[in-house]
Amino acid sequence: MALELVTIPCRTDNYAYLVHDADSGQTAVIDVPDAAPILAELRARGWELSDILITHHHDDHISGVQTLREATGAMVLGAAADAHRLPPLDYALTETASFEIGAEKVRVIDVPGHTIGHIAFHFPLSGYAFTADSLMAGGCGRLFEGTPAQMWQSLQKLAALPPDTLICSGHEYTASNLRFAATLEPGNAALMLRIEEVATARAAGRPTVPVRLQTELDTNPFLRAGLPALKGAVGLPDADAATVFAEIRARKDRF
Ligand code: ZN
Ligand code: FE
Repeated sequence: MALELVTIPCRTDNYAYLVHDADSGQTAVIDVPDAAPILAELRARGWELSDILITHHHDDHISGVQTLREATGAMVLGAAADAHRLPPLDYALTETASFEIGAEKVRVIDVPGHTIGHIAFHFPLSGYAFTADSLMAGGCGRLFEGTPAQMWQSLQKLAALPPDTLICSGHEYTASNLRFAATLEPGNAALMLRIEEVATARAAGRPTVPVRLQTELDTNPFLRAGLPALKGAVGLPDADAATVFAEIRARKDRF
């Protein structure tokens, strides 16, 4: 049985997520942009927080961790590689680590690029991947620390997950990401349809996440850098995928 999944808007455009196992009562939050909306959601559902999972060290993903830890007594889990710049960790994680939320074994995936220590959390039974600022809905995070080649590698790992995996990313940037995507693939019918769906969702105040990996594979230019259509769109028909990815990322930075 899939864990219950709740998307919580925080700050202006961040998302935190709760996963809850009804049998054990175990409840985890992925990223803490802000403690208040997460505490309110826990209270409203009568859930007790057991685990705080951190994807990366940026302030908009960790600033509520201490408050939440003090309020709930939850354990804090984050990347061992970033322990020096994360709130104190109860469990320091490497890619070979796994842990359980209820009956579900959670897998850690190293996804450097946006930051060097960025990790993602994969819940294979439920079919969730918490990707924060690595793979984002319709885009990918800016390369603050890693190289384009590193981010391309990271995205390849996520692209290899089952296509019906729900991608839970860290921000509501989807509309602008897809506007950029349309400059590269104006003839991509799936992309045009998605742009309409996202506009409808936003007009109704609904989040555009989570989103199926297959939708990303069909419409996200950063996952599509190896395809002839994208190589052609950036004028690099003979380049390898990582080079095309780097060019797409550079264009997005100027978009
Ligand atoms: Zn970030
Ligand atoms: Fe962020």
